[in-house]
Amino acid sequence: MIEVTLLGTGCPLPDPRRAGPATLVRAGGRAFLFDAGRGVLMRLAAAGIPTPAFVERVFLTHLHSDHVTDFNDLVTTRWTMSLAANPLPVTGPPGTHAFAQRTIGMLRDDIDWRIEHHDDLQWGPEVVVTEIEDGVALDDGGVRVLAAPTEHKPVHPTVGYRIEHGDSSVAIAGDTVPCAGLEALCEGADVYVQTVIRPDLVRSIPSVRLQDILEYHSSCEDAGRTAAKAGVGTLVLTHPVPPPAPGAEAEWIEQAAAHFSGEIVFANDLTVVNA
Ligand SMILES: [Zn+2]
Ligand SMILES: [Zn+2]
Repeated sequence: MIEVTLLGTGCPLPDPRRAGPATLVRAGGRAFLFDAGRGVLMRLAAAGIPTPAFVERVFLTHLHSDHVTDFNDLVTTRWTMSLAANPLPVTGPPGTHAFAQRTIGMLRDDIDWRIEHHDDLQWGPEVVVTEIEDGVALDDGGVRVLAAPTEHKPVHPTVGYRIEHGDSSVAIAGDTVPCAGLEALCEGADVYVQTVIRPDLVRSIPSVRLQDILEYHSSCEDAGRTAAKAGVGTLVLTHPVPPPAPGAEAEWIEQAAAHFSGEIVFANDLTVVNA
């Protein structure tokens, strides 16, 4: 069985009820994190992971700020809460290595102060990055993670992931419009997690800049169509743009349900879905 916890279901727009995009996947007694948005450590703690030292690997779908804004907190807190050097394994699209090194550069003053202050902390944080665009991202101990390219231009490259354990499979799409890579990840998956927007609502917001996001996100209808085409079991809608008022969830589900007859979950922070 694979347990999926939607840690943060928000987007760049601040929402008091939603942390930034981040999803915890537990499989075979192991914990993997997908993206590291606003408040990720608070939500990890709420999900029973008190320190990121217990996260085996972080997978990033892309380097848009809402998906990585608290990556620096993961790096620092894993470092300061580990008794020995504990490099953070990270998998992400090309560009992730440079991003991780720049993050450590940003933290330089803090790193130096802590090493100077604590006699038992004589090493800095380490991040070991594997960059991937397509193929097997991890395969050991009965857990397999596949990556495939997604479509979120001008953000490029971006990837989605598929986690397999036993007979269970979960696709985590990240931000993307429907595309071949996404379909491959979703094929027959028990659970498909998709970030979504509502073009009908976005168009009604008088912000020229906001209209640009219509080009590179899946709508609820797109997500429903992808889910139906791939024959998934459960579609999980997350990262809703614009943030919906409580009670409006049914409308979002309805739009996806027009194209997909399986189970649809509208995720809130800490929603758990099993595959
Ligand atoms: Zn996003
Ligand atoms: Zn994005």
